[in-house]
Amino acid sequence: MPELHVIDHPLIQHKLTVMRIKETSTAKFRLLLEEISMLMGYEVTRDMPLIKERIETPLMPMDAPMLEGKKVVVISILRAGDGILNGIMKLLPSARVGHIGLYRDHETLKPVEYYFKIPREMGDRDAIVVDPMLATGNSAIAAVERIKAAGPRSIKFCCLLAAPEGIEAFHKAHPDVPIYTAAVDERLNDKGYILPGLGDAGDRMFGTK
Ligand code: URA
Repeated sequence: MPELHVIDHPLIQHKLTVMRIKETSTAKFRLLLEEISMLMGYEVTRDMPLIKERIETPLMPMDAPMLEGKKVVVISILRAGDGILNGIMKLLPSARVGHIGLYRDHETLKPVEYYFKIPREMGDRDAIVVDPMLATGNSAIAAVERIKAAGPRSIKFCCLLAAPEGIEAFHKAHPDVPIYTAAVDERLNDKGYILPGLGDAGDRMFGTK
């Protein structure tokens, strides 16, 4: 059964509403995306494996839990994925980072790859693929296909907003990859934008409109 995790914590929902408001400035939008990504990262990393390390507190030795190691790779779908990447890297500063560049052909709405760089050794890594908007799902599906070919131990997909159409297409293509999102919106418009959505996440993050 494909997994969908809607992380509906009140702090996330409030911050997301402020991001949706069309007057919200670029600076504020970017900051909020980073803050939400940190809060979502808390859930996305919930099942990270721990090991016991022998340490000494000022009072006595103990076997204390620590993260297993530097096994996570966060893979950003350029360019808007970098907004979520920045938040998650605050939680996992030693995680490795990958980038995949896909632009959406405005005629066909299909993804075209122009950049792909991920760590060479992926076999023992857990990948978190990030992109704020799961709209048609085409970019996320193509990105995950490429990443699967590199053979990571596991893959999760983390976005901010998802359209029902994108969730359905993604789950059909990758039923083994859980989706984490802050909200599921109503639908797509005929240009592939999420409604009510928040507009073009890249333009709003970088002030390029
Ligand atoms: N990408 C965006 O940035 N916004 C949408 O609504 C859909 C895809």
